[in-house]
Amino acid sequence: MSKIEMKTPLVEMDGDEMTRILWQMIKDELLLPFINLNTEYYDLGLEHRNETNDQVTIDSAEATKKYGVAVKCATITPNAARMTEYDLKEMWKSPNGTIRAILDGTVFRAPIIVKGIEPCVRNWKKPITIARHAYGDVYKNCEMKIPGAGKVELVYTAEDGTQTKEVVHNFAGPGVVQGQHNLDNSIESFAKSCFNYALDTKQDLWFATKDTISKKYDHTFKDIFQEIFDAEYKEKFDEAGITYFYTLIDDAVARVMKSEGGYIWACKNYDGDVMSDMVSSAFGSLAMMTSVLVSPQGVYEYEAAHGTVQRHYYKHLKGEETSTNSVATIFAWTGALRKRGELDGTSELCDFADKLEKACIDTIESGKMTKDLALITTIENPVVLNSENFIKEIRKTLEKML
Ligand code: NAP
Ligand code: MG
Repeated sequence: MSKIEMKTPLVEMDGDEMTRILWQMIKDELLLPFINLNTEYYDLGLEHRNETNDQVTIDSAEATKKYGVAVKCATITPNAARMTEYDLKEMWKSPNGTIRAILDGTVFRAPIIVKGIEPCVRNWKKPITIARHAYGDVYKNCEMKIPGAGKVELVYTAEDGTQTKEVVHNFAGPGVVQGQHNLDNSIESFAKSCFNYALDTKQDLWFATKDTISKKYDHTFKDIFQEIFDAEYKEKFDEAGITYFYTLIDDAVARVMKSEGGYIWACKNYDGDVMSDMVSSAFGSLAMMTSVLVSPQGVYEYEAAHGTVQRHYYKHLKGEETSTNSVATIFAWTGALRKRGELDGTSELCDFADKLEKACIDTIESGKMTKDLALITTIENPVVLNSENFIKEIRKTLEKML
């Protein structure tokens, strides 16, 4: 069988720890035997980030802008412990944060659904994708402890010196206060990324805030979404047979619980932080969550939602066997290869991505899985495989399909 050719390089961002080990296994077993893999490789492993003063992260994001599609392995975000472990020159910033800032993107997270790993919410049949705005609000706040009686005001000083004031509160005693902000162009990018992704995946889009209470702040989000939708997306949505709908966040929560899934739920920064953990744990396993960063210009970066699985890596280093789930990382590759195929018009690549995903799902549904899934599956007597044998089993399933 001849290998599938790729017209345009895919930006490949390698990473850390156990996911770096899986990365190589996935390439060796599931990709290189079938595809003439054309990637532009960036090593985002912490050692190399440190050697390059993190320039490699910036370069990889710039390359993603240039080519349009990237696939990323999980990476360590350094903390104090990592400073000594890796003898770092600096506590380098989160690569995901750096990449997101350069691409100005929104992150979409969706669970991979397989029979035998049942969501806690019985009526959820299709994935629920959470889109989280990744700028501002409480994450870029300014806070003050109020020691005692006094007046707190919001003051805006324009460039010409004119001031606008709002009284926050007349304090009679001690308390706390917090200032938050957001930017119209960040909200616009968020809205566009959501509308584009809905069209791309042919799913309805929901957006929810608390505009009845937050009549200026949240209402601005609501208005910007509606204006952009009416001006640029309404017709496209009609053609695609999908809908955009706005509701209050508490109403959205109630509807989500009663729904069968199959839509995108766009959330402000904090709501997205909370709801994505709720939705992902209710669907079963962090190891089965995919994540894609989509820029308003239509640039895509695919990855797994989980981290580098540090605990498993230390076992691996000691020569012990691991049973780490590679499905979300495989789906990062298939997502990226399919998108590359769509953009380049290479249908064989899209077809291969579909088959590899199906091979993962079929393997699990046949009862062969990693330990994390075996612990929660409704399939009787599952066969628990180690990291390597699970990938080999997927290869066998795939080869039967090709
Ligand atoms: P983690 O890597 O997501 O793992 C947390 C725990 O979840 C694991 O110990 C494991 O539980 C389970 N788990 C996660 N993925 C799994 C998989 N594929 N297969 C089986 N079990 C899985 O989070 P962490 O250990 O808190 O973070 C480790 C590093 O990842 C940190 O340095 C953090 O900065 C980084 N991180 C990176 C990203 C990213 O690049 N996108 C995201 C999050 C975290 P058991 O140990 O119980 O088996
Ligand atoms: Mg969180």
